[in-house]
Amino acid sequence: MAASGTLTTFRLPPLPTIREIIKLFRLQAVKQLSQNFLLDLRLTDKIVRKAGNLTDAYVYEVGPGPGGITRSILNAGVAELLVVEKDSRFIPGLQMLSDAAPGKLRIVHGDVLTFKIEKAFPESLKRQWEDDPPNVHIIGNLPFSVSTPLIIKWLENVSHRDGPFAYGRTQMTLTFQKEVAERLTASTGSKQRSRLSVMAQYLCSVEQVFTIPGRAFVPKPEVDVGVVHFTPLTQPRITQPFELVEKVVQNVFQFRRKFCHRGLSMLFPETRRPESTGKLLELADVDPTLRPRQLSVSHFKSLCDAYRQMCDEDPRLFAYNFREELKKSKSKFQEEDDTERYRL
Ligand code: SAM
Repeated sequence: MAASGTLTTFRLPPLPTIREIIKLFRLQAVKQLSQNFLLDLRLTDKIVRKAGNLTDAYVYEVGPGPGGITRSILNAGVAELLVVEKDSRFIPGLQMLSDAAPGKLRIVHGDVLTFKIEKAFPESLKRQWEDDPPNVHIIGNLPFSVSTPLIIKWLENVSHRDGPFAYGRTQMTLTFQKEVAERLTASTGSKQRSRLSVMAQYLCSVEQVFTIPGRAFVPKPEVDVGVVHFTPLTQPRITQPFELVEKVVQNVFQFRRKFCHRGLSMLFPETRRPESTGKLLELADVDPTLRPRQLSVSHFKSLCDAYRQMCDEDPRLFAYNFREELKKSKSKFQEEDDTERYRL
């Protein structure tokens, strides 16, 4: 018996296979849109199982395409599945699924980068941040060119507790190029440790749940694919604003092979770079000769707290951007050069 107390568990009726749907609606993958489809329903079932218990859940699937994962989600006993698909060619095939699952599948022809999921599901699903996660899940196999910017946007939403996280600590199960999945989950000291590792891990518990070989997709992509599960943490491991954390992390990793003080120094105007970098490292109590990948989230917490303290002491500091200073000094140099040439 289903957990909801209903006597029957919903299963989709017999339907044409995904391969037949692709043929029927002429859904050849568009290479420029990096469309790679999963046709093996055992694999799509596995992705959906890794999302957790979906009984009576409200699920937001991003980029359903011909609907392989969509079928597995519908078979998992969800209350409602909302799919957002950009390519209109997929809508009739999805409509067929919707007819087979009356009242369960809502189809939106739109763009996940702009769709406002926070208004789409009932208010009653909302949970306090500290409570267990709400029965709202995000699942998707998107093109790699979309999944990376999207996860950065969603991490920012986690920090502001808005967007999909207006419901509480909404869980996400998403696919990434294997290398990106490894970066998202990389631990301190590992080769893959990067900006993405710190940004994801200070806000979420992040787990690479399994790898799908490239050959499982049609057409086959160049690389294997990692399925990653995210659960936002009740307490972020760094409590400074997202923009500040992003700035510190980005500066550190821009010189990933150097000692960390090199990247950190770029947080400060050239005229006072050495003293300010020294002060930051002293306040944070971080060894300047650690390499970026050796810094743990708690090192970053100390660095962000110290940088925040210095920004509070000098309110112009946060707006400082070394690239702009570089541009200005280059154009000043250019101007002087031009004037000189004009004189000649
Ligand atoms: N989920 C399907 C599967 O696993 O077989 C399709 C995967 S395919 C890699 C990515 C899908 O995302 C395509 O259907 C594509 O049209 C859709 N897509 C790409 N960018 C999108 C966007 N910005 N918003 C919504 N859908 C998008």
